[in-house]
Amino acid sequence: MAFACQRNSYLKELVSKVATCVSVANGKFEVTLNDTVLFPEGGGQPDDHGIIGEATVSQVYRRGAEAVHVVDRALEIGSEHRCLVDWKRRFDHMQQHSGQHLLSAILDRKNIETMSWNLGESVSHVELSVGKLSAELVDAVERECNELIRSRQEFTVHYLSKLEAENLKEAKTRGLPDDVVEPIRVIEIQDIDKNMCCGTHVSNLSDVQGVKLLHTESKRGNVCLFFLCGNRIFDRLNSSLDVERKLNKLLSCGTEDFPGTVDKLKATVRLTQKSSKTFLKELGRYEALDQLDNDFIFQHREDADMDYIFAFTNALNADENKHKTEHKVVFVAGGPIKTGGQFVLKAPCDKLAELSAPILEMIGGKGGGKKDQLQGKATSFKQLSKVRDLIASKVVKTEETASQAALNTPEEQASLQEFSNFSYWKVPLPDLPDTTDI
Ligand SMILES: [Zn+2]
Repeated sequence: MAFACQRNSYLKELVSKVATCVSVANGKFEVTLNDTVLFPEGGGQPDDHGIIGEATVSQVYRRGAEAVHVVDRALEIGSEHRCLVDWKRRFDHMQQHSGQHLLSAILDRKNIETMSWNLGESVSHVELSVGKLSAELVDAVERECNELIRSRQEFTVHYLSKLEAENLKEAKTRGLPDDVVEPIRVIEIQDIDKNMCCGTHVSNLSDVQGVKLLHTESKRGNVCLFFLCGNRIFDRLNSSLDVERKLNKLLSCGTEDFPGTVDKLKATVRLTQKSSKTFLKELGRYEALDQLDNDFIFQHREDADMDYIFAFTNALNADENKHKTEHKVVFVAGGPIKTGGQFVLKAPCDKLAELSAPILEMIGGKGGGKKDQLQGKATSFKQLSKVRDLIASKVVKTEETASQAALNTPEEQASLQEFSNFSYWKVPLPDLPDTTDI
């Protein structure tokens, strides 16, 4: 026997008698009724929500010939209750499901078979037996669907025995399930399509209101074609208009000027980023020169990146400055105080051995490098003042002496890029900013 919701898909309420009620997990109960207005999931259509008397129905599923309702309270066996379906949800499902039958029928006329379909929460799709669909074909299918909706063809439900259904040639099916229960329903769209289906459908194509095809995606070599039907088209249009109005204000232009305005903005941003990078590198050089005569060199900028750090250390290492810096401790860091960033610590070997471990601990850092240089990434710069104090405490004011090892020769600088390959690196080096598209 078909359920009341299948005999009349427009039925919104029904008085039903409780046949069974069983306690299940999580304080829920499973209830069967002598008949139901609530559709159990099937045929690609999700289940209904609603109420049975005072009980809220959160799920309905089919078990053989029965619809099992999962409810939040026990219901007395034999008691009668007014059952109400969440009509907004149900009618939405009817529009999407009947729209899918129409869409698949039109695609079928073009020898494109529907392998499966999904009724999603906001958008649905059919998976088709082709590798791709042209935009022209998609436009033509959408136009045809909407022309037929205006033709107001009837949806009719036929009931057949299992044997009759198996012998029926003209009705499409993807195979009857093993636990199929007679009678088997065939949904006919007048002069267009016959399809075996257990779902709830509109009684006339005009209730589908419209079909809007969206985009396609590839799946297992097939194409998934996404679509909206009925009220979902208006919902999507409303949210698109809302976004459009916000963009009108943000960009101070009409909708038709969006592409040109965004192109201009992107070009401006690219130019600004390029200038800002150049300025930051220049700043690194000047700020390094400013510290040449200090006993030790300590620098941090929240907005600095690796380019800035290199510009800073390159300036210290320049031939004309090397004699002032090669025996000094240098700490340069870039990144937010809270989340840290990148750093370079350079010092004569003995001092670096002394300073590395405590500084790494203070900045939550990891890194590697050479005997006179440590480079890496820090997770916080909150204790930078302690780092500075520690370095200051280790520095003995001396006159510059002959070079033991260059602070940062060009060869060493170039090799910084290769550190991430060293086996003793604990973490990969942060990526350098990609400047190729700027
Ligand atoms: Zn169906």
